[in-house]
Amino acid sequence: MFLIHDLCKLLEAYLDTDQVKDVYRAYLYGAEAHDGQTRQTGEPYIYHPLAVARILAEMRMDANTLIAAILHDVIEDTPVGKEEVKNEFGEEVAELVDGVTKLTQVKFGSKAEAQAENFRKMILAMVKDIRVILIKLADRLHNMRTLGVMRPDKQRRIGRETLEIYAPIAKRLGMQHISRELEDLGFRAQYPMRQRVLEKAVKKARGNRKEIVEKIRISLEERLRQEGMDVPVVGREKHLWSIYDKMRNKGLSFEEVSDVYGFRIIADSVDTCYRALGVVHNLYKPVPGRFKDYIAIPKTNGYQSLHTVLFGPYGGPIEVQIRTEDMERVAQAGIAAHWMYKTGKATPGLASEWLKGLLEIQKYAGNSQEFLENVKIDLFPDEVYVFTPDGDILNIPRGATVIDLAYAIHTDLGNTCVAAKIDRHLAPLRSVLGNGQTVEIITAPGARPNPVWLNFVVTGKARSNIRHFLKQMKDEEAQELGRRLMNKALAPLALELDKIPQGALDTLLEYLHVPSLEQLLEDVSLGNRVASLVARQLADIVDAEEEGGSRAMEEKKKGMLGRYTPAWLRSGQERQAMRPLAIRGTEGSVVTFAKCCRPIPGDSILGFVSSGRGIVIHTRSCSNVREFRDNPERWVDVQWEEDVEGNFPVDIRVDTANQRGVLATVAATIAEQDSNIENVSIDERDGLYSSMSFTISVHNRVHLAQVLRRIRAIDSVVRIARGK
Ligand code: MN
Repeated sequence: MFLIHDLCKLLEAYLDTDQVKDVYRAYLYGAEAHDGQTRQTGEPYIYHPLAVARILAEMRMDANTLIAAILHDVIEDTPVGKEEVKNEFGEEVAELVDGVTKLTQVKFGSKAEAQAENFRKMILAMVKDIRVILIKLADRLHNMRTLGVMRPDKQRRIGRETLEIYAPIAKRLGMQHISRELEDLGFRAQYPMRQRVLEKAVKKARGNRKEIVEKIRISLEERLRQEGMDVPVVGREKHLWSIYDKMRNKGLSFEEVSDVYGFRIIADSVDTCYRALGVVHNLYKPVPGRFKDYIAIPKTNGYQSLHTVLFGPYGGPIEVQIRTEDMERVAQAGIAAHWMYKTGKATPGLASEWLKGLLEIQKYAGNSQEFLENVKIDLFPDEVYVFTPDGDILNIPRGATVIDLAYAIHTDLGNTCVAAKIDRHLAPLRSVLGNGQTVEIITAPGARPNPVWLNFVVTGKARSNIRHFLKQMKDEEAQELGRRLMNKALAPLALELDKIPQGALDTLLEYLHVPSLEQLLEDVSLGNRVASLVARQLADIVDAEEEGGSRAMEEKKKGMLGRYTPAWLRSGQERQAMRPLAIRGTEGSVVTFAKCCRPIPGDSILGFVSSGRGIVIHTRSCSNVREFRDNPERWVDVQWEEDVEGNFPVDIRVDTANQRGVLATVAATIAEQDSNIENVSIDERDGLYSSMSFTISVHNRVHLAQVLRRIRAIDSVVRIARGK
């Protein structure tokens, strides 16, 4: 039985007397809080937290971690609250105990295998102090060691959770020592039969190989000594779970997995490591491509070592790991080695650059929150974990927005999202998501991606989907507009696109070197081809075909198009009769509204076809319109369709007397009239008057007039006008 004075003895080796006394006081406090409670084994409850503290003491953890370990179940299982722990043992201990309690309350419920990885990261993302995880791992380890008293089904469930969640976390933090034990105990709990069979097989194989292992070990050691290196070589065995895991994942037989001889060489310096490698490669031929230098390039969890594989003399490869004692300590204890070095009495000298880096961060960061954030970024750079409303966990890159998440879930969700609820509060689409948030995406039928989104999405998936959608929309809109422009140009020639024979269209496309009618319509809508000209050419072809005779056709194709006088030129009056193109405001990017005059429904307008941009609509009174006079072929007669719906931006200028809150009053008045403010700038001319420029959105001229009237009624407003 491990008792409190056994723990104190362990602690005296590396903690101050005062700190040991504090741990002892925590024990008395915990024992009293848990008084009367027993574990399933029948022993008093306090033995469990004491055993957890022992595991952490063996890892040379600091005094507060040990105190928190002893008290780790008091908030959850006794009437003692966080406040009392804080009063008795200070803020830090209280936070640690509280953190462990919160982790205990998160239940790993999902059946989906893929969720396990996210759950692990979630746990790490949740805690504010990495020591909370170390306590939790020690807690789990002791529970696994004493699992035998539980019902078999409960054992299996806890075993699976250990294999899927806790062992990988320990591994991630570089704590090989803990992760291996958790894996083997988890294996036994989840698959008791397989574990027994495999254990037997390993014992048998070990007996058979014993002699060979010893022979290889001695020959390695002797050769190293001949070269002046007195370093120990130890035989290394795979633990049961890793054998099972390899067999299962790689589809290998037991022989294939276990027919490997593993050795570890612990050298006294980095230099010796590399020299030993040379000696080993000299003794047995190395297997090409299997050498790895984790000393020069450590793994992200700080692991350092040289790995190599040799052709063995008795068949079966020899795997060799070479590292220093410090590296070995980090390999076993992982992140816990950090505290080992921190608490003064541990061996000085740092093994790993990673740990050195962490210590630097700790020194300069000053608080454990920042330290942990850095550790997390080290371990999982650029990832954030969020919940769906159903409790699933999704990971997205750091900086990702609601839109990124929506596209990550499903393209349709991204294409139709309009807002989100983050932790049940309404939030805009551009909100950047943080760890642990619950995010619900709100969609609307008919909603579609906005080009503005491209400015803030961070994932490639969102970006390419938005681009693809916009391109497709643009193509469709362009074709639709091109069709309308063509029909408008064909009408005076008494033609209609749909009624033109396919043969004539094919001839036109061939003549113009355009691959398809769709392409031609897009070209027309974007102003790359002038509709009236194309219409004339088409009319020529139609007329020629009606005249019959393929010979006439051939002539036309040879560049004589246009010699024939089309109907509209003959009449001369047709141009006046052309009906203007109706603007609906929903044409998309192929019809745009000029920023110089910002036309709104009700304004008298005209269109200008500008190359590559489609039709730009101006008001007839716009001063820029005069400049287009020289290009009459690019004008399009346009008019508003009746009952245009939608919001159109318009500039207004408001001159006011300087008074407190006048901007707020004007803004509120605009909002009251169901108009949005899209932009505002203020130009304070002198101490008395200000000039404010707004871009607001309105439905039409009537709406605008109503807004202007209300603003004019405000006392401090001196003048108001629609901007140019
Ligand atoms: Mn516990």
